[in-house]
Amino acid sequence: LKGKAKKLTRDIATPQQAAVLGAGIMGGGIAYQSASKGVPVVMKDINQKSLNLGINEAAKLLNKQLERGKIDGIKLAGVIATIQPTLDYSGFERVDVVVEAVVENPKVKAAVLAETESKVRDDTILASNTSTIPISYLAKSLQRPENFCGMHFFNPVHRMPLVEVIRGEKTSEATLAKVVAWASKMGKTPIVVNDCPGFFVNRVLFPYFAAFSLMLRDGADFNQIDKVMEKKFGWPMGPAWLLDVVGIDTAHHAQSVMADGFPERMKKDYRDAIDVMFDANRYGQKNQLGFYRWQ
Ligand code: NAD
Repeated sequence: LKGKAKKLTRDIATPQQAAVLGAGIMGGGIAYQSASKGVPVVMKDINQKSLNLGINEAAKLLNKQLERGKIDGIKLAGVIATIQPTLDYSGFERVDVVVEAVVENPKVKAAVLAETESKVRDDTILASNTSTIPISYLAKSLQRPENFCGMHFFNPVHRMPLVEVIRGEKTSEATLAKVVAWASKMGKTPIVVNDCPGFFVNRVLFPYFAAFSLMLRDGADFNQIDKVMEKKFGWPMGPAWLLDVVGIDTAHHAQSVMADGFPERMKKDYRDAIDVMFDANRYGQKNQLGFYRWQ
């Protein structure tokens, strides 16, 4: 997959100017990552408060780098200056690539992508950071589906190396190459994958979560499983901790997408730990209560 990604980018210029739709957890992280690696971004949201949060998040990450002596004040100010916040589409006529990171709602995403397509040049590439919506479905709202693909980052963007670049039915090779080039410039490892439920990572992750839930049904203790997987097996964290970080509401939704996509493997006739936690509004780190209590 990595070799394929490299071959694709051989003759493709790295984007000079990018845009991000949505200044939330993911959009803010992507804007920071792109700007700090030298590709300026326009960051659009629908409200000023979210835009401010996105900029503040970037500033916080840059300040950490300053404290560690990795950058100086001039570099910090320079990077911040290359993130241009906007509530409209100003600056979008200049962008080579746009990644959409608004709420995970198919109708909202389709409408936002169609509107964006009408504001950019004909050769601008559009990508979606969706975790669960088929790329070929979102492409239906576009006039130029060949210029569109998935670009799935992981949270937190500045720490997670992988980016899934998802090929829709009509995505062109040039589009994939441009997005691969941008992800590489951001210091990430892009992999090109086909459009299917769960793309690559969630096809591995959700059977793992299912196995974890089955062990809990068998009477195992989640804390012990975490300890073994983290401390003894050497993974960065165990499954319960990971679910708390991902967000149990997010996992609950993704799990249902996986069950619909691969019923023979993923459908179950019982309520598992993710269902129970979700019904109890225990979403993990985001609302301070999941498998663990977060401060
Ligand atoms: P978020 O709720 O933190 O941010 C969404 C942002 O989009 C908000 O600031 C909101 O104001 C803005 N927005 C809504 N409608 C908009 C519009 N029409 N135009 C511009 N901005 C608009 O959400 P998030 O966690 O950053 O997730 C964004 C996307 O990334 C989703 O598709 C999600 O599935 C995907 N994703 C999330 C994660 C994660 O762990 N959070 C990981 C990978 C992918």
